[in-house]
Amino acid sequence: MSENHQVLFRKYRPQLFQEVIYQDLAVSAIQNAFKQKKIGHAYIFFGPRGVGKTSIARIFAKRLNCKTPENNEPCNKCASCTEITKGISQDVLEIDAASNRGIDNIRELRENVKFAPLTGKYRVYIIDEVHMLSEPAFNALLKTLEEPPSHVVFILATTEFHKIPETILSRCQDFIFKKVPQTVLQKHTEGICEKENIQFDSEGLFWIARKGDGSVRDTLSFMEQAVVFTDSNLTGKNIREMVGYQGIEVLSNFAKALILPGSHNKIFEILEKLYQEGQDLYKFIWDFLEFLNTALLSLQNLLDKDSANFPAEDIELIKKEYREYNMETINLLAENVFIMYDKINIMRLRNSQEIKIYLEIQFRKLIFDLEKPTVSGLLKKISDLTREIQNESNNLPNDVIIDKKVESKSQENDSLSSSDKMEFFVKENFKGTDVDPSTMPEI
Ligand SMILES: [Zn+2]
Repeated sequence: MSENHQVLFRKYRPQLFQEVIYQDLAVSAIQNAFKQKKIGHAYIFFGPRGVGKTSIARIFAKRLNCKTPENNEPCNKCASCTEITKGISQDVLEIDAASNRGIDNIRELRENVKFAPLTGKYRVYIIDEVHMLSEPAFNALLKTLEEPPSHVVFILATTEFHKIPETILSRCQDFIFKKVPQTVLQKHTEGICEKENIQFDSEGLFWIARKGDGSVRDTLSFMEQAVVFTDSNLTGKNIREMVGYQGIEVLSNFAKALILPGSHNKIFEILEKLYQEGQDLYKFIWDFLEFLNTALLSLQNLLDKDSANFPAEDIELIKKEYREYNMETINLLAENVFIMYDKINIMRLRNSQEIKIYLEIQFRKLIFDLEKPTVSGLLKKISDLTREIQNESNNLPNDVIIDKKVESKSQENDSLSSSDKMEFFVKENFKGTDVDPSTMPEI
């Protein structure tokens, strides 16, 4: 990530446990450890990138060495707290295992842990991306973890828990951090916009939070770029352009052009227009897939307004416009579009013209397939025709003339069956076409 786009992230980095977003479970477990004065020597912070692992590790280190903690939080005023915030504390050492993964780095660390802390009570080692350590480095670290000096605390942060040896895991307490939901990220960016006097609308912030994909750091990094790109005007229209989203109308028109008979040419017009504009057709296909899936969820009544796929306004439109559509048809579309998306990747089609031609061929094929009768379509047709015949036979006039054969049958059964009634009705209506076999010429 570019250093230039970390200003907002640094400025709004939490300095207290209570400022951390959405990691209540891990935070309250850590605070309880402080309350009960049960501080271990090694912790593992596991979770996706940019959700607060290192931030919490620093708050943890501050609280551990703070001279005057308040309500189980670091004071952020004493010498120790100030040094840690500035990143100049000699007692808190941050190591990036991605670039210090060798045994020599860990040997140096093992020498270092012997020294007593300078300003606080503890020396805290925060090892980020710890899963990147080499096997000998892990073995060296294990030796320290087996007999840690009483003044040392290790916080090992990782996005890949399964890559850490069991021997290390068994000596650590682990805390799990979660991806931050879209709505929480959106609310967080809204608060920052208000403080920073940045113009926004809810759709603009939706796309910013969506781009962050559960990571506070990635969200704020993209927000920073968006502020520059849009001159502090984070509206849906501006951000849509940044993320390459075509808008709900284009997706909806594309779907209707596929589903509604007689409008198929529109598909090729839309693809051509996107191609001429230099849009990313591969991303468009993914967006279309999400659109179809969202329409299906709406038909299943499983869609709420906080869906992460589309902004609230778009969700309302999908709910309104697609409630009458046939679920089977849309699912068939979604299945086929997913195969197209997958194949573009497998065939490594990178050139936009190749992708366009491939899509045109595949959509043409899909249209032919959609026009073929489906089994359920045929069954429905049969059931509709049966209902129609039954309705008509029930509405037959009472004075229909009944021939002798069926008259006797009618006496046996009291009333006529629907098929018999139908037979009379047809005979009556087609009397003129009866042919006497005796008048037929001999062959
Ligand atoms: Zn303090």
